[in-house]
Amino acid sequence: MKKNRREFLKITGLAGAGLAGLNFMNGCTPNSQNRTGEGRNWQEDPEWQRIQYGEWGGPGVDPRPGAMDEILLKDYAPKSSLVLPITEVDQPRYDAIDVHIHNYPARADGDTRQVLAEWVGTMDEVGVETSVVHTNAIGDRFRELTELYLDNYPDRFQLYCGVDLNEIGASDYPERAAEELHRCYEMGARGVGELTDKGLGLSADSSIPRDERLHHDDPRLDLFWQTCGELNMPVNIHIADHPSAWEPLDVFQERTPDYQHFNLHGDDILSHGELLARRDSLLEKHPDTTFIACHLSNEGHDLASLSEALDRYPNLYLDISARDYEVGRTPRAAKRFLEAYPDRVLFGTDMGMQKSMYRAWWRLLETDDEYMTGRVWWPYYGLDLPDSVLEPLYRGNAERIMNWEEV
Ligand SMILES: [Zn+2]
Repeated sequence: MKKNRREFLKITGLAGAGLAGLNFMNGCTPNSQNRTGEGRNWQEDPEWQRIQYGEWGGPGVDPRPGAMDEILLKDYAPKSSLVLPITEVDQPRYDAIDVHIHNYPARADGDTRQVLAEWVGTMDEVGVETSVVHTNAIGDRFRELTELYLDNYPDRFQLYCGVDLNEIGASDYPERAAEELHRCYEMGARGVGELTDKGLGLSADSSIPRDERLHHDDPRLDLFWQTCGELNMPVNIHIADHPSAWEPLDVFQERTPDYQHFNLHGDDILSHGELLARRDSLLEKHPDTTFIACHLSNEGHDLASLSEALDRYPNLYLDISARDYEVGRTPRAAKRFLEAYPDRVLFGTDMGMQKSMYRAWWRLLETDDEYMTGRVWWPYYGLDLPDSVLEPLYRGNAERIMNWEEV
């Protein structure tokens, strides 16, 4: 089933996109200064024209000023006139295991236990059998969460713990982190996550000097990763972020204003490419540990490179959580990718508790509906995935690679 990079490039038509992609990652186009451009007539800017109109060269009409010039970008919400069938999918074709959620009831208004009970009701209605809660917690806080989730709903939730990030510079740190992992396993943790590095290291603490930050492949974590492997605890890692986060907030910013607070442009952090290189060195060093890189490893925009990583590292798995906008805008390439790697990608949401959210996922993955309303700017197109992909994606891979030992 696996394809090498050249074959994948051929079938997806991505060959030759390499250089353009590289420029994008470096983020330094000649006009990158002053791109918010107050008072500037962008219609006359050749780079703007190319990005806005592509091969068409222009709008094909006379772009004269008018009422729409006063509309703020953040308010723009074009309403589609398309008349097309809308397929409602109440439940997934196979009962789903959602491998990426968080402790949402604690953030919601009202009694946490009551909110949790309602959520379990929603899971029943939308066809989610089990959800994996990425708590990031250790110690007493982790124990409290086991009481909330595992004592009440042992069959509906699995809990992932965090990693001890206290005093990462101390000489006993590696042993301390590994010992705490053992304790969390005893309390009921069956995996670890979500361990995030958006460039500042796992502590996300900018006061730590650059060369002392704890990135995933840091030797101080070697014992911890090794212990995860020994305990058969998969690790969910969040490496980098969507590449648009490293691009300036200007006229060429790819994502909507909703995401502007995720922007990292100009921060004293690792680049998107440097973070992916850290991912590779982590995977290389710990072949006996299972890593699930969430959000399609933040490479959903470059499936050829992501394929290379999957080919190179058999211990790498992916979840598709919160990347509806990547697979939805490239339904054909995404489908070919998922068909090429049916045993490597897991279903996850990471987007709260709403019934409509789950059902939007079923519609996206299972139907061939077109021009669905999505998040970000991009309308989505259904992937129309076959059963041979849906079954492992929704549950088969999770059943196989995760630790289901009774708590
Ligand atoms: Zn998450």
